[in-house]
Amino acid sequence: MFGLMQQQPLMISAVLTHAARHHGSAEVVSKTVEGDIHRTTWAELERRARRLVRVLQGLGIKESDRVGTLAWNGYRHVEIYYAAPGMGAICHTINPRLHPDDITYIINHAGDSVLFAETSFLPLLATIAPRIAGSVRDIVMMTDPAHMPALDLPAGMRLLCYDTLIDAADEDYEWPVFDEATASSLCYTSGTTGRPKGVLYSHRSTLLHTFSINTADVMGLRAIDRVLPVVPMFHVNAWGIPYATALAGAALVMPGRHLDGPSMHELLNAERVTFTAGVPTVWLGLLQQLRATPGARLETVQRIITGGSACPPLLIEAFNREYGVRVDHAWGMTELSPLGTYNSPKPAHTKLDQAGMERLMLKQGRAAPGIDMKIVNDANQELPWDGVAFGDLKVRGPWVASAYYGDPDGSAVDAEGWFATGDVATIDPEGMMEITDRSKDVIKSGGEWISSITLENIAVSHPDVAEAAVVAARHPRWDERPVLIVVPVQGRTVTPEAVLAIYEGKVAKWWLPDAVVVVDELPHTATGKLQKNALRARFHDYLIKRSE
Ligand code: AMP
Repeated sequence: MFGLMQQQPLMISAVLTHAARHHGSAEVVSKTVEGDIHRTTWAELERRARRLVRVLQGLGIKESDRVGTLAWNGYRHVEIYYAAPGMGAICHTINPRLHPDDITYIINHAGDSVLFAETSFLPLLATIAPRIAGSVRDIVMMTDPAHMPALDLPAGMRLLCYDTLIDAADEDYEWPVFDEATASSLCYTSGTTGRPKGVLYSHRSTLLHTFSINTADVMGLRAIDRVLPVVPMFHVNAWGIPYATALAGAALVMPGRHLDGPSMHELLNAERVTFTAGVPTVWLGLLQQLRATPGARLETVQRIITGGSACPPLLIEAFNREYGVRVDHAWGMTELSPLGTYNSPKPAHTKLDQAGMERLMLKQGRAAPGIDMKIVNDANQELPWDGVAFGDLKVRGPWVASAYYGDPDGSAVDAEGWFATGDVATIDPEGMMEITDRSKDVIKSGGEWISSITLENIAVSHPDVAEAAVVAARHPRWDERPVLIVVPVQGRTVTPEAVLAIYEGKVAKWWLPDAVVVVDELPHTATGKLQKNALRARFHDYLIKRSE
């Protein structure tokens, strides 16, 4: 027997129409690429999103077509976030910090038909345009006619102006209702080996994620909040905040491209932000700015969420004690839409003193409602939740990926539907998870991935390098940075400068190792595999010690 409740598919457009109808005057504020502040409301944004659907239709976009974006956090990007899925197409956010080769690969792999881009990416567009011409028909510059740039494009590819198209479009459009399992958005994550892989979200997964993160012990946004996501919309859906704010009817404040300490400090105060979210590197920058400015305060910020990489204890202590701002710690992944855990206290923690609470906050937190998790040993047996045993962290839930884009459904999970995160963790008796290590061979610098294997492969292409290993070393600002350890070919010598020179043009500049160490040999296991763990332990503090 089925229940007798209305069967309404969970549609992303319903989140936007809710905001427009019930919180129509709530603001969406954006710092634009041109440097000014743009103000609109959820009602106006919904109206423009309808116009944008008309624009997309005019560009020949149909259901399931991929609509690429190369954009910062701003209102036009939010419009695309809603318009593309709203009409049944797919919003594909692209990380502009990747190397142009990876960006080209991602656009072609996704098969984007149209690319929306901000003017700040013009040099990148000039580089990639000839290589994406087989897929992308039009490039729409996310600007007004006054700031429309010139760009030579391959024959057949058009350069269009966002605002010109919107102004010419009509808004007579009704958001359609269709199967909630329909794909809504796509985001590539840089894997440990090989090329980036696409995570394809659905309307259903996005809505359930949005409801969950808005529960009180997770982000719990409210209509009176003013929310600034520093975490980019091009990476992990800005942690779902563009949807969660609309659902709550909160104001959304979009920081654009400048995420340095002084810019953040000014915008947080000027826009009376109450809640903000980003990676530790951003908060360390903000802290530095506050400390360097006598009398500086965060006038309205009540909560900062940090996630994306481990939270330095300094962040929690300094913001709490010096600025009266609570720092919440969260963990997630692109494959989890992204939120998996959030650190909110349980009754057992209420008696903790401030220092105890601050220590607790270093844990990544407990499962958001809807997510299940476990830790397992090498034999895939579940380990106890005693806060001591550590093992591979696995998760499952309705907003966890089951496969990567283009792969068969279910190919990213085991027979019981568990997804292996590549993180190593403990879980304590209260269900608080703490990441202790990572089994995936990657480095996370300032919240962005660097593939150690890619760096190793390039190093060994140097004629004087016999073997190479790249490991993550702790860094005070970026959390982790790559250190390259090389063994020269017998009878040859190699200098760090010579090795670094061969990376030129092959990887993004910020991927370059911070140090190159030449050694006589690298440690191996009995089966001849590199002992990365031993190297990680040895070089963990290398950069910190070097700077001291
Ligand atoms: P991404 O898909 O780029 O968001 O990366 C997800 C990965 O970032 C996770 O699997 C972790 O390795 C790492 N990560 C995310 N949040 C945290 C956190 N709070 N502490 C430590 N590592 C984190």
